[in-house]
Amino acid sequence: MKRVALLGATGSIGRQTVEIVERNPELELCAVAASSSRDELLQIARAHSVPHVSLAGDPPLEELIAASDPDVVLNAVVGFAGVRATLAALEAGIDLALANKESLVAAGPLALAAQGRGGGRLLPVDSEHSAAMQCLEGRPLDTVDALVLTASGGPFRGRTRPELADVTVDDALAHPTWSMGPKITTDSATLMNKGLELIEAHYLFSLPYERLRTVVHPSSVVHAFVQYRDGASIAHLGYPDMRVPISYALTFPSRAPTPCESLDFSRAFTLDFFPPDEEAFPCLALARVAGQAGGGAPCVLNAANEIAVAAFLDGALPFLGISETVERTLARVDAPEVRDLDELLELDSEAREAALASTRELVA
Ligand code: NDP
Ligand code: MG
Repeated sequence: MKRVALLGATGSIGRQTVEIVERNPELELCAVAASSSRDELLQIARAHSVPHVSLAGDPPLEELIAASDPDVVLNAVVGFAGVRATLAALEAGIDLALANKESLVAAGPLALAAQGRGGGRLLPVDSEHSAAMQCLEGRPLDTVDALVLTASGGPFRGRTRPELADVTVDDALAHPTWSMGPKITTDSATLMNKGLELIEAHYLFSLPYERLRTVVHPSSVVHAFVQYRDGASIAHLGYPDMRVPISYALTFPSRAPTPCESLDFSRAFTLDFFPPDEEAFPCLALARVAGQAGGGAPCVLNAANEIAVAAFLDGALPFLGISETVERTLARVDAPEVRDLDELLELDSEAREAALASTRELVA
């Protein structure tokens, strides 16, 4: 029996994780956490006789992890709020199934150092990275020319920048292929999601940014592919369904059965790929530049993006203001390397202040 601590149990990834656990007799929930969805959290806890529960930080996620003694922590909290849990699980040597990409983007070097000391595994839940891990498995990195992450292109694929000026929150949340929480759905609409994923891939797979690419692939059937130096590319395919990478991470390396359909080749389908439009969607290039700058720049990028997306979802910032906020904040905030959690928290709050100031300027 594998004991799972599920953080963010009431969200999109959290609910699908509960379903995977329910269908797999080898998995059980030993802890669950959420922020404000009290009734749903307590219902999950009751239905699964979960002994350890955290609501709105009570107890803090690090304490929940320590008290519940899990075999694997699935971090499906959204945003920087997931950082402490990521670091705590890795420091303690507990396997971490990571959906919370913001924690790796903001705290990549600290997370890798904690993993080095703790010795647990870092198993990506993000579909592209789960796919990449499988395409890379057991092959030396010097044979890899490029890792290519696919992007659906989001609801605004094909639009020019001027055509994005008046899009609404509802437009941005109407994702064509994935059903996800509002923050990542907005990130998919700006292509910041793919930018965050480039940084996530850099830390997960130790590949330099020059060997990390993105390509727009509207049907989201190919999740990632690796191009090898001999001209071969190895791809990972499947219908867009997060239960597959969730189950893969929780049952690694045994690849347990899931209720998910395999590709149906009796129906015709085509696979299309397009280069991303970085002029209409500047967040992708901003993330690449921040990733390449290194130090605290990815933390600043992430903080600015969280502030801007929250403002957009509140109706207080236009869609194009998201990338403008991120760009202004990166220009404003010095981002030296952070050496510990305290320095990270300080840089994150400084970046949030600067981002808030930028959003106010943009709507003034
Ligand atoms: P949702 O918004 O649907 O869910 C977020 C979850 O986190 C909720 O359970 C929420 O609780 C909980 N939460 C938020 N803040 C805290 C906190 N401070 N302490 C404890 N719990 C908290 O997000 P998603 O499930 O869509 O995404 C989760 C993460 O996974 C994100 O980082 C996202 O980028 C990543 N991801 C998601 C994918 C998807 O398909 N959804 C795909 C790949 C990655 P409450 O309900 O009480 O607010
Ligand atoms: Mg993804």
